[in-house]
Amino acid sequence: MHPLRLPHLALVAGLVAGCAQIAVLAPPRLADSSLARAAATAGWADATELPRRSEVVAGQLVIHADFPLAEQHRMVRDLEALRADVSQRLGLPISDEPVHLYLFENQERYDAFAARHFPGFPVRRAFFIETDTRLAVFAPWQDRIAEDLRHETTHGYVHAVVPGVPLWLDEGIAEYFELPRGEQGRHADHIAHLAGRLLEGTWRIDLARLESLHSPGELSQDHYAESWCWVHWLLHSTPERKKILQDYLADLRRDAKTAPLSARLTHLEGGAVTCNAALRAHVESMAPR
Ligand SMILES: [Zn+2]
Repeated sequence: MHPLRLPHLALVAGLVAGCAQIAVLAPPRLADSSLARAAATAGWADATELPRRSEVVAGQLVIHADFPLAEQHRMVRDLEALRADVSQRLGLPISDEPVHLYLFENQERYDAFAARHFPGFPVRRAFFIETDTRLAVFAPWQDRIAEDLRHETTHGYVHAVVPGVPLWLDEGIAEYFELPRGEQGRHADHIAHLAGRLLEGTWRIDLARLESLHSPGELSQDHYAESWCWVHWLLHSTPERKKILQDYLADLRRDAKTAPLSARLTHLEGGAVTCNAALRAHVESMAPR
């Protein structure tokens, strides 16, 4: 989790949003959101200052860049491969809905674009938006571009097939997949953070509390780390837990109001106390000694 990417948006409840991401829907559906309305009418999709020098299509991705970008660039291939990784790990179908990536050649161009077309949107290293017609990621070229694009592109891949994914799970999944492929979602920063909280006795594991968060502005570093941890534990502890996550996502595709994961896990694990103890043990097993 990266503090610069922490969201502090005061979006109205019900907006799909996450770390540096925003859902921009048609104004009539969001009449009480001046931010979304302003963004929706800004015409960013036709803006002349969008990166347009090169365009690369890589699977579901349409990458627009300020600079020549080779189709065989390692990062392009990596982001393309991420699509299958997300699909296979989470048991989700592949979508053909394009995810547009706009890559600015420098921070100044990116900042100017964001300030003009998403006024009031906090400056982040990168961000993702979902509109009625488009999934899009914006990022400047910088040292951590690969990690940032893996995170934001994961949002795109997931939203293309599970538009109603809950905020906590959306971020937990993106944190899991932002790591290089070989690391199997093992997030050293989050492990260290949670292990520290355990030592201090200040981590109150509570999935239902995570599920109650609907505004990105409510998410703290603790929430990001715990969200990642639930996802990692579900995917890497037992086949039954992996299946419960996959079944939950499949149900969310059909009905965003399906029974929450906490209720399903309580049923499977025999109670929240047992479940939380297993999560704690999972962190302890990964933490350096
Ligand atoms: Zn995010």
